[in-house]
Amino acid sequence: MNRLAYLRASSLEEAKQALALPGSIALAGGTTVVDLAKLGAMKPDLLVDIGGLAGLDAVRVDAGRLHIGALARMADVSRNADVLRLAPAIAESIERAASGQIRNMATIGGNILQRTRCAYFRDASTYAACNRRTPGSGCAAIGGVTPNHAILGATDACMATYPGDLAIVLAALDATVHTDMRDVALVDLFAEAGSGRETVLADDEIITAVSVAADAGAARSSYLKLRDRQSYEFAAVSVALAVDLTGNGPQIRVAVGGVATKPWRLPSVEAVLRAGPPTRARIAEAAATAAGDARSTPDNHFKIRLLTRTLERALLTALDLS
Ligand code: FAD
Ligand code: SF4
Repeated sequence: MNRLAYLRASSLEEAKQALALPGSIALAGGTTVVDLAKLGAMKPDLLVDIGGLAGLDAVRVDAGRLHIGALARMADVSRNADVLRLAPAIAESIERAASGQIRNMATIGGNILQRTRCAYFRDASTYAACNRRTPGSGCAAIGGVTPNHAILGATDACMATYPGDLAIVLAALDATVHTDMRDVALVDLFAEAGSGRETVLADDEIITAVSVAADAGAARSSYLKLRDRQSYEFAAVSVALAVDLTGNGPQIRVAVGGVATKPWRLPSVEAVLRAGPPTRARIAEAAATAAGDARSTPDNHFKIRLLTRTLERALLTALDLS
């Protein structure tokens, strides 16, 4: 049994002071932290419960942007009228994540910062080597069972997939993550695989909100998630699109999940789609570039074709060509 202390923070300042202590970690809904602490994959000395901090759970529209508080519960956000109207893919991605019970507990900030589901990372008692758990210890997944691992962004140090759904949509929507210290583009929040850090955040930095522009692309956003079973499962591959049809040609932003070490934008696909009218041929050509930088194992090689086909299907559907 690991002994740990618990502090219910009553102010941001108190939370930050506690988070500056070595071995401390923020606790929001707790659905990742408690799970991993029980498994021994995380060994915090102090849980700093930020769940009671005031003013961090609101959803509001301000100066053309949709702001979602970091402590807003997933379930509440997926049912929020402004979210459904201004950025429906945010609601879609949450609805397809986890279970109703978890969505009632889990928060937006915690969802974005959830840890990988790599089985070797989670099974700390069997596998000592894991660069994400213990930087420099190696990677037990190399030569192991890897059908769920990443084909994009994988390195010799780590090939674990980023598991969340919401952050894939936020990447397509060019979301900004607001912390108590600064604003960071969501796509810049996550560190390189195996770098020894999960994100660029400081240990005592607290996410306060996330925001997206309430633009035409967000209003016509969509999320397609493929998985081994239809509910309560992480993505094998997922595609988030933001499609703006108000200009001369469509402006389409594309991000994918289930296949990459972090939420992954696909600029090569976006460039092909920008080059002319979105015909079936152009869509097929664009989708074919998606896995251009892929690095696969025999176990996860199937994801290359799966990614291409899923992206093609998502684009055809979003452009009413299916
Ligand atoms: P916590 O567990 O409290 O925290 C998670 C991490 O974020 C911790 O490192 C914590 O320190 C940090 N943190 C939390 N809030 C802040 C903040 N404001 N500022 C700084 N750091 C913070 N997710 C999906 O997207 N799709 C799925 O299909 C899915 N399926 C699941 C199935 C199961 C069985 C389980 C257990 C989980 C699943 N999840 C899935 C993950 C789940 O959505 C996350 O566990 C949850 O969203 C985490 O939110 P939380 O508030 O409970 O975070
Ligand atoms: Fe750890 Fe990454 Fe290797 Fe999994 S793939 S064992 S998370 S280093």
